[in-house]
Amino acid sequence: MTLRNPVDLFPKPPFPKQPQQAPGLAREMIPKPDHGETSYVGHGRLQGRKALVTGADSGIGRAAAIAYAREGADVVLNYLPEEEPDAQEVVKLIEAEGRKAICIPGDISSEAFCRELVGQAHVALGGLDIVTNVAGKQVSVDDIADISSEQFDATMKTNVYALFWICQAAVPLLPPGATIINTTSIQATKPSESLLDYATTKAAILAFTKALAKQVISKGIRVNAVAPGPIWTVLQPSGGQSQEKVEHFGEQSVFGRPGQPVELAPLYVLLASEESSYVTGEIYGITGGTG
Ligand code: NAD
Ligand code: MG
Repeated sequence: MTLRNPVDLFPKPPFPKQPQQAPGLAREMIPKPDHGETSYVGHGRLQGRKALVTGADSGIGRAAAIAYAREGADVVLNYLPEEEPDAQEVVKLIEAEGRKAICIPGDISSEAFCRELVGQAHVALGGLDIVTNVAGKQVSVDDIADISSEQFDATMKTNVYALFWICQAAVPLLPPGATIINTTSIQATKPSESLLDYATTKAAILAFTKALAKQVISKGIRVNAVAPGPIWTVLQPSGGQSQEKVEHFGEQSVFGRPGQPVELAPLYVLLASEESSYVTGEIYGITGGTG
């Protein structure tokens, strides 16, 4: 195998400004993110597993969903209804692996929907043993005076309450050996001033992950989280950053470029698989060398 320099593997800034209305579509990004569509190679590490992935249409969740299917898992995909065009691309890729791709679109800021989602996923897959919480809301606002209560509430509901509702509904259904993987951020410990509400939710996810891990290991369930740094996804140009920051996105990492969603896929696979059997309550960074 030819060794390649990781610094030069993927596009570097500057990137074009490219505003989209949240949640946005990955298919309209320039350059297109690499979610592993052609690059991720599976090795049967999740053969026969049954996974629910939120935010599975685009970005990090899409990369996890594609990788899970290539590793042999059936996948339920959750996303917002307006993201259907992105989601259908993922469905095609999963079905091309001969795995099930079941779409359950809906808004996870609703408690009722979260409970339905878990119940329906469990029925549709004939069981559930991987719960991968990737969906998230990020809206950049420079001044605390300009953060509306509606935004603060929606960010909390989507990033924290949904995690609580989904995990609460899932735990009684999960067999020993099942795994929960959450998605926090470097923002949990190194918050940006313009991401006050978002960073607060990511710190909550960190504590939630560690506490739940201690609670459910008695049932044989492991819980871990991934903490990404700057990753090239539609979250950023659709309001997660200013367009000026999008142009230079990832420049501050020691690589001088953002990470691509596919570069996180192996970690989501490892944490889902039995290979990480002694790992729980851990937070794994993929931050681009910024710690
Ligand atoms: P993304 O926009 O591709 O994915 C986010 C997904 O969240 C959307 O696709 C959407 O389906 C889902 N979502 C948002 N609100 C929802 C709602 N109310 N109901 C249902 N689904 C909803 O962007 P991404 O960067 O892949 O984000 C995935 C996760 O990674 C998020 O939790 C984000 O906080 C985290 N993260 C991203 C970065 C980064 O730089 N991109 C860095 C650290 C953490
Ligand atoms: Mg999306």
